[in-house]
Amino acid sequence: MSIFSKFDALAANRRDLETIGINPFDVQIETIVSPTEGIIQGRHTILAGTNNYLGLTFDPECIAAAQTALRYEGTGTTGSRMANGSYSGHRNLEKELAAFYGKRDSIVFSTGYLANLGMLSTLVGPNDRVLLDADCHASIYDGCRLGRAQTIRFRHNNPDDLAKRLQRLGEQAADTLILIEGVYSMLGDHALLKEIVDVKRQYGGYLLVDEAHSLGVLGQHGGGLAEELGLLDDVDFIVGTFSKSLGGAGGFCVSNHVELDLIRYASRPYVFTASPSPVTIASTRQALRALSAGSDLRKKLHENAVSLHSKLEALGYPLGAEASPVIAVVFDDKIKALQFWNNLLQLGVYVNLMLPPATPNGMFLIRCSVSAAHTSEQIDRIVAAFERLKPTA
Ligand code: PMP
Repeated sequence: MSIFSKFDALAANRRDLETIGINPFDVQIETIVSPTEGIIQGRHTILAGTNNYLGLTFDPECIAAAQTALRYEGTGTTGSRMANGSYSGHRNLEKELAAFYGKRDSIVFSTGYLANLGMLSTLVGPNDRVLLDADCHASIYDGCRLGRAQTIRFRHNNPDDLAKRLQRLGEQAADTLILIEGVYSMLGDHALLKEIVDVKRQYGGYLLVDEAHSLGVLGQHGGGLAEELGLLDDVDFIVGTFSKSLGGAGGFCVSNHVELDLIRYASRPYVFTASPSPVTIASTRQALRALSAGSDLRKKLHENAVSLHSKLEALGYPLGAEASPVIAVVFDDKIKALQFWNNLLQLGVYVNLMLPPATPNGMFLIRCSVSAAHTSEQIDRIVAAFERLKPTA
């Protein structure tokens, strides 16, 4: 037995994946043409697996802001904010995020993954209880694990199951942290936030909502599901990422709790990693301005999502959830999903192949992500590829 023996099963799995000639988890986009187009294997390809929901990666004002920061502040911060200091941009972005949500304060982290890790590992420890939706993202699970919190899962998007488990906790319910997502990353379904808030009002507890896939997508100002439903006051912590609608990299948490600022001093994923580069901060600040003013972008995104969803449904594909920018087609077999993914790529459409353990209930998913930057013609070309590959009954 060597320390590498544990990789034998992974290596065998990878060989299986490579039988189709390209590893879906090691795709090279040789040239980025635009937010929705690239060259893959020498072929012009529509990118429909990017999470670039508003298409802001090529926004001229975001690029100009990033260029100015690069020129005047350099390529990187070369350290953590605790040890090496913050740049004014870090603090300004934190103030802008807090103002955007109408909350007291925010903390910026170096990625969305680190935002969950940094918040959860610090907020909850071995004497605390966490109730988390079973379909929560890996970063939420990992944050709870790092904090060694007592972690109880409740059935996905099931407020009754949440209520049952809170009731069982008795007096401890009031100190329990409830963890959910606004729009779930794998199937694109919306949290039953109103019902979950009702449960929280009845039993007490704290609520953290990860709006990674709903920021820029839902809400009058693009704040996400809590804003859309007018429930921001009922959410204790909103976590989000800069890597999707904001077209950058980084993450954040906003909250009204005064203790938020103390998290910085105790959070290892905040203290012991380099802060986001000036380029990232500058493009994200500009993207946040575009996002909050961007109701046209959200409208176009919604139209594209409804169009792709309804057309794939009409073709008879089993879809994971209601129309949202994440549209997942469910397969019952890994090899079929793998071949389908590759056939789409050969037809010039790049989507995501999602396999267990990343998926809920061991599902095999072909996951499309729609962008406001997709033209109607590109949506139709995606649909045409699905139509050509439609399995015959
Ligand atoms: N939360 C959720 C729900 C996500 O889907 C993701 C990324 N897919 C993250 C957090 C992590 O974000 P980042 O890519 O910025 O690390």
